[in-house]
Amino acid sequence: MAFISALPAMLISVGLGFVLGCIPFVQNWLHWNFWFVIPISGLVYGLIVGYSSFKLLHILNCRASGAVILILVISAAAGFAAIDLGRYLTYVVDGRNGQVVRIAAVMSFFEFLGPQFKNFWHSLSYVVDLLGAMAAAFGAILVGADDNPYCARCNRYKSKETEFEVLLDGEEIANKLFAEITVLIEDGDYPAFRDFCVALQEQGNPAAGVVKVTFDERKCAACEARTMFGVFEFVDDEGDWSENSDFKFTMTSDANVRISPDMQPRGDESI
Ligand SMILES: [Zn+2]
Repeated sequence: MAFISALPAMLISVGLGFVLGCIPFVQNWLHWNFWFVIPISGLVYGLIVGYSSFKLLHILNCRASGAVILILVISAAAGFAAIDLGRYLTYVVDGRNGQVVRIAAVMSFFEFLGPQFKNFWHSLSYVVDLLGAMAAAFGAILVGADDNPYCARCNRYKSKETEFEVLLDGEEIANKLFAEITVLIEDGDYPAFRDFCVALQEQGNPAAGVVKVTFDERKCAACEARTMFGVFEFVDDEGDWSENSDFKFTMTSDANVRISPDMQPRGDESI
């Protein structure tokens, strides 16, 4: 089952590597790394493949389960290895008398790969490239899965319901608010939690805030199960906002949480 779910994304991973390997100029940069051990191309390739793989899972409403992620990470490595096949089949060199000679016509695939394993450092470099591609793909898929809640009951991703921001004018107020939110989440009553969030929005914002709280709610279109993500951002002396990982929260409802119409937040309206 996991294999079937992952199949389209697997094909993308392997196909992308092969196609990139076939493109002149690009193919020369696909094993680019620093000092043999920092795999620039592997990381970039893994990020692109991981991001694309998750996008496809999302479009097809396939859950990024542990087994699916494992299959896709292995596919990312296979795709990275497929780069060499693409290079081998399309690589040309100048022959005698100005003729262009295809590498595939004069040597086997393993002879072509040989120089990449000619000594310890080159072999290590190849392995590190592969590991880099796998690690980056794993990270990109995990971030996608984290940011996109899935309704296991209806086998679909939840879609964005609403997003709004609330400004606070003191860090003490932020601490107090975060504590209140934590208690509400522990209580597990989603409608009460959501009413609290919406009431905060309706209070309005101070003229100048030093803390910004973003509420981002997703909803399953079939059963109305909801997930609310929240994050606090703090402003620094230069006026730049940055998230604080200690001030993040997630609340998920059971299915069929009905929200009374008069408590609907005002769409995407934000400060
Ligand atoms: Zn659902």
